[in-house]
Amino acid sequence: MYEQIKAVLFDLDGTVYYGNQMIENADKVVQRFRELGKRVYCMTNNSTKSRQQICTKLEGMGLLFQKEQIYTSGYAAALYAREKGYKSVYVFGTEALKEEFAELGICASEAAEVVVVGYDMEFNYQKLTDALQAALQAKTIIACNKEKHYPGEGAKRMPGCGAMVGALEGSLGRKADYVIGKPNPLLLDVICTQQKLKREEILVVGDTYESDIQMAQEYGCQSIYISESEEKEPGDTKRVSHIKEILEWL
Ligand SMILES: [Mg+2]
Repeated sequence: MYEQIKAVLFDLDGTVYYGNQMIENADKVVQRFRELGKRVYCMTNNSTKSRQQICTKLEGMGLLFQKEQIYTSGYAAALYAREKGYKSVYVFGTEALKEEFAELGICASEAAEVVVVGYDMEFNYQKLTDALQAALQAKTIIACNKEKHYPGEGAKRMPGCGAMVGALEGSLGRKADYVIGKPNPLLLDVICTQQKLKREEILVVGDTYESDIQMAQEYGCQSIYISESEEKEPGDTKRVSHIKEILEWL
C-alpha cells in the first residue's frame, strides 16, 4: 500500500500527541513508515514553539526528528515575510516565533510594516494593547492561523490562535490580510519545494478535517483522517478511529 508515496506528513496536536503525552503507538507508525523507506515530516499550525523546541519535545517521547523535518505555521510565516521582502515585523506572539523571523534575517520592530499574530499561552490585555498600537500603523496583518481550538492534555479543547487573531481583529475593526497555516496549502508548497517532492507523493495524516484533510485534498495529496466521529464525509481520504490502526495496513 502507498507505493507511490515518498513522504508522510504528520500533524502533531491530536495526531502524534496530546499536550506532553504521546498518543499510543504513534512512534510505531512513524517507525514503520521509515522502515518502508518513506521520509517522515511533521507539521503544526501551532507557532508557540520553534522547530528546534518541537524536535526536543518529540525526542522526549522517543521520536527522533531533525529541525529541517518540522514545518510550523511560524516558520512558514517567516518564509512568507522574506519572500515578500519585509525587513522587519511586529510579532504578537512568543519569543520562539520572533526567533523564526530572526533566523531568516527579519528583525522584530515596534514600527514594522507587518504585524504577525501567533498563538501565545501568555496572551494578555497588555500584549493586545501593544499589538494594537503596532497594527494601527502597519499595512499588513498576518495570522499564523485562525484555529478556534485544539486538543491539549487529555484531549481537552484549548483556545487556539483564532482567539488571539480575533482579539486583535475586534479591537482593530478589520480582518487579518493573510492566514498562513492550514487549511492554506502554503505549508505543503514549502515542503514540496524544499524537499523536492511532487504533491501526489505526499501522504498527510491528521485529526482535523477542516485543516489537515481539506488542505491535503485541495493540494492533491493523499490523506488519512483520524476521527472517531462519523459526521464528516471523508471524500477520497481514508478514515481510522485511532492512529495505531494505520499499522494494520503497513
Ligand atoms: Mg491536530
